[in-house]
Formats: sequence, structure tokens, C-alpha cells
Amino acid sequence: MTRPARLVLIGSPVAHSLSPTFQNAALESAGLPLRYEALDVAPEAFDRALDELAREGAAGNVTVPHKEPAYRRCTRHTVIAERVAAVNTFWTDAGALCGDNTDVGGFLHALRAVADDRAVARVALLGAGGSAAAVCAAAEELHAREVRIVARGADRARTLAGRFPRVARACESLDDALAGCDVVVNATPLGLRDDDALPAPIESIPRRALVVDLAYRPEETAWVRAARDAGRVAADGLSMLLEQGALSFERWFGFAPDRAAMRRAIRERVGRDR
Ligand code: NDP
Repeated sequence: MTRPARLVLIGSPVAHSLSPTFQNAALESAGLPLRYEALDVAPEAFDRALDELAREGAAGNVTVPHKEPAYRRCTRHTVIAERVAAVNTFWTDAGALCGDNTDVGGFLHALRAVADDRAVARVALLGAGGSAAAVCAAAEELHAREVRIVARGADRARTLAGRFPRVARACESLDDALAGCDVVVNATPLGLRDDDALPAPIESIPRRALVVDLAYRPEETAWVRAARDAGRVAADGLSMLLEQGALSFERWFGFAPDRAAMRRAIRERVGRDR
């Protein structure tokens, strides 16, 4: 494995990203003389930017809106990136641009942390975009019984369900998706802004269901706060974010990062634990 010459996050926008904070803490703790930089790259400039980075021997992460284009640009993929058809982690190997998707492992980690030893057989999934695909792939790994997808674009929900026929089906209504679920996952951007509606009313969620929000903010999201206030077990996207980054680090360097240092860096930046 060749050490990356440069480490970057490519997305648009990226200024708000917490990834440089915890990746730089991990690099420092490992004594690696690299800085992780965030690059704001517009969609039309993405292919050229990624090719140039590959020529430089760079590695890094890819975020909204470039995960699917990155998948198309990589010539080698891990099995899980193939399954999700999106890449959030790239590196070069013998001149080949390689892609992985650590959102799946990040989500599994976050879910296991909140589920403890509860069974997660039925998943209600809100949204049908890139991170929803990662949740479907995670549900396959978990051998979940069913993922019920509800999205504002019914066609997109059907298309996603069609890619994961063993576990997923599209639902026409929120109530149908939520009925009897063990966990409800928000994979929409609802909750990122102060005036957003909640992804689903708390009272419509079965009492014993876990509430997992992929969105995160410095403070907990309004949905997670409302769920906790109603006595539910809930988690926001911070723990998934940290773990997907830790798994990316392992891909680039072949050893595990100092997760405690990464957590400390997040805590210092946002004023709370992941
Ligand atoms: P995508 O744009 O790929 O998909 C978003 C989905 O949400 C689509 O189904 C979209 O519908 C729907 N949607 C968008 N806006 C609204 C709205 N106002 N009301 C209802 N539905 C809406 O995004 P991602 O899947 O990449 O990301 C989704 C969320 O997950 C974001 O908050 C992101 O920050 C978070 N995320 C967190 C990660 C973590 O590590 N914690 C990792 C990855 C993502 P339509 O097709 O109609 O636009």
C-alpha cells in the first residue's frame, strides 16, 4: 500500500464539515506529516479535479453531491461500494483509482451503539438518496427482515427498493412505513436547518422503535431532541460521521486511527460528545 501524498475532502459545500477536525486529530496522533484539507469543487469541475488528485497520489473522502460521480470515475471498487453504487472514500493503487463506501460501516456502528442488544428486523427508511442506499446495504449485512422506504419522490423510492429486492420495498405512506418498525432512520436533509419540519412526527413512531437521524448539527437535531423528550432512544449522525471517517483512515493507511483523539477533537469543536 502506498501512503497518500495528500488527503482531501471533496464536496460542495464543505466549509461546515467536521471531517478536517477529526481527521487532522487522527493524523497528528499517528505522527503522520499530512494535513486533511476540504476542497469545494463544483459538479462540473469534479471529474477533472479527481483525476488531477489521483495523478498527485492523493486519497480522501467524497461528499454531497459527488458520491455517485466518484463511483463512476473509480476503476476499482470494494464490494460494498459496488452494492451502494456510491463512493465516499478514494485512494490510488498502482495507478488505479479505487473507491470504497464507509458510510455503510459507519451506519452499522451507529446503529449497534444505539440498539445495544435489541433486534433490528424492520427498518422504516425516510428518503431514497445516496445515504438511504447505504442504509439498505447495511440492512442486508444485518440480515434485517424488511426496509420500508418512504420518500417524497415515490419513483425514487421504488427504484431504490428495486436495487435491494431481498430487503426493501417502497411504501406509499409514512404510516405504512412506520407500522411495527424497530428503527426509523431519517436519510433526508430535513433537520439541517432551523425551520425544517420534523422528518416524521414522534407520536406516529412506534413506542419501542429507535430513532436514528443521519443529519447532525453542533447541537442535537430537533428530531432527536423531540424523540428524547418523548422518552425514545435516539441518535443523530455524529457517531456515523466519526466512524465512517475512522474506516476511511484505515483504508488509506492500513491501521486503525486513534478514535479517542478523533472524538476529543469533535467534542472540542461542537461542545458535545459524538
Ligand atoms: P441525497 O440528496 O442523495 O438524498 C436525499 C433524500 O432526501 C432524497 O430522497 C430527497 O428527495 C429527500 N429530500 C430532500 N429534501 C427533502 C425535503 N425537504 N423533504 C423531504 N425529503 C427530502 O442526500 P444524502 O442521502 O447524501 O444525505 C441525506 C442526509 O444524510 C443529509 O442530511 C446528510 O447530511 C446525511 N448524511 C449523514 C452522514 C453521516 O455520516 N452522518 C453520511 C451521509 C449523509 P428528492 O429525490 O425528491 O430530492
